[in-house]
Amino acid sequence: MVNNHLYIFGAGSSKDFGFPLGNEFFEKAHILSASPQEKTKSIRHIERNLKAVEKILRSIFHNLPDEHEHWPNFEELFSLLHALKSKGELNITENDIKKFVALIFHTLSACHFMFLDVNGIKKFSYYKDFISNILKNAKENPSFINLNYDYLLDAAIEEVVNDNSLNAIPQNYKIDLYNVSNCEKITQGRYILIKPHGSLKIAKCNKCEIFFYVRDTFVPRIDNKRTPCPKCNESITYSHLIPPTYFKNVPTLIDAHEIIKLVSNAHKITIIGYSFPPYDIEMKYLIFRGLFKNKKDVLFKIIDFDEDNDVEKVRNKYKFLQLFTRKKMLFNTEGFLMYLKHVNS
Ligand SMILES: [Zn+2]
Repeated sequence: MVNNHLYIFGAGSSKDFGFPLGNEFFEKAHILSASPQEKTKSIRHIERNLKAVEKILRSIFHNLPDEHEHWPNFEELFSLLHALKSKGELNITENDIKKFVALIFHTLSACHFMFLDVNGIKKFSYYKDFISNILKNAKENPSFINLNYDYLLDAAIEEVVNDNSLNAIPQNYKIDLYNVSNCEKITQGRYILIKPHGSLKIAKCNKCEIFFYVRDTFVPRIDNKRTPCPKCNESITYSHLIPPTYFKNVPTLIDAHEIIKLVSNAHKITIIGYSFPPYDIEMKYLIFRGLFKNKKDVLFKIIDFDEDNDVEKVRNKYKFLQLFTRKKMLFNTEGFLMYLKHVNS
């Protein structure tokens, strides 16, 4: 029997590769913008957008700390601003919102480049081997929900598929994608990868209303000056990122039914670095709705990090999952990178 194995990736799955968690985001942007080396264009973008965002935030919050490391979780902050704006209690413009999204885009893009600069290749090879083993396992039918903007997982799947000529089929994002270099429609593949929060890899032409995929593994750049839409020649703006608010109620890639379907059909669910934070309430309840429909005893495996390797503490974070299965949940608390090193050795 073939098992449907669903993998859910959260911010913790990227942390070991140099990407910030929600509560580290502003600090990361600050560190990058303050780096002493010669500033690249991308670093200057971070610097400029961080200053703009700081100015907006200081006009709203009089007690915003001086140190960026003490700023709140950016998803929570974004949700609050969005709630205030939608109630008409905050005068913040679409242009202000764009500055926030630009800051996210440039900061995470820079993280991809830094990751390569700091000898990230070896770490990435652990990641690739892990994905390769998943895709080669004939007894399991894998699918992936990735809640991150970064594209480590996308790149790993793409490289594994190309390396092994596993039918050379690209992954399936469950939306129609076009190749940004030639505007050809990308064939739908057999690996389902859903990125409900958008991705640095995906861009949208607002005129043609179609999505583009950037093929090159480590070139995320959808540059608003240099990348014209291959269909209408209009400039494509930044990558399609869904601003991180509670309800994501902006034009969205979220295919609620697809997520519920994947969760409800799963025999096994492996959750990597995602602890259902309260500021991601929409995703949390989509997954719960899927679990409610799932009448199997799902096998849950949790890969998380606890500095004391305290399984009980981690188990506590996920106790609601126990409502959906009689099976014993499996826990790993050493962090994703250590897990990859062990599982591949
Ligand atoms: Zn267009």
